[in-house]
Amino acid sequence: MEWQKGPLTTDQTDVWISRFQRESKLYVWGFFVLLHPIVFGIIWWSTGELNRDVFLSLGSFSLVTFILAILSRRRTATAWSGVVTDKRTRKRRVRVGANADERTEFRYEVVVETSRRRNLTLRCLPAFFEYVNGGDVLVKAPGFDWPEKAELDQDHRVCIACGDILDAADGNCRRCGVPMLDHASIVRV
Ligand SMILES: [Zn+2]
Repeated sequence: MEWQKGPLTTDQTDVWISRFQRESKLYVWGFFVLLHPIVFGIIWWSTGELNRDVFLSLGSFSLVTFILAILSRRRTATAWSGVVTDKRTRKRRVRVGANADERTEFRYEVVVETSRRRNLTLRCLPAFFEYVNGGDVLVKAPGFDWPEKAELDQDHRVCIACGDILDAADGNCRRCGVPMLDHASIVRV
């Protein structure tokens, strides 16, 4: 998707955010709908004939993906603010390929206690992990997946769409292309 050139002013940010929210909703539900003929085809092909089981399988697939889509949309739609209470890395052994050696991978997690006393664990990119510190106040705008600091204290910004960290001078996210939004607008929840 081609995004406009950042950084955006306050007015541009408001317009851009409502457009992004509309389009990402359309994208999730469009994907949900488009998946059905494909899954229907696969189940039909593997069953070998068109019988009641095919429709039952498609029905249960539909129900599960519908619930997952609702939950994911709800998490994205929710706005919150909170304080970083913990940062932790988890080591994981992963095997690459069938005969390859195991290697260690790190998983980066930031724990936030929201103003409603809920603990959220954000599994994040290493750059995001470096960017936030214990005690930072984070604010998540509705319709986006990632929070930003309430008060900026460096020359960096969070891409609230993909969770990467970028230079304030960049204008657009290098990872996903989203323009840098007006900070005051995105923390005004
Ligand atoms: Zn991004």
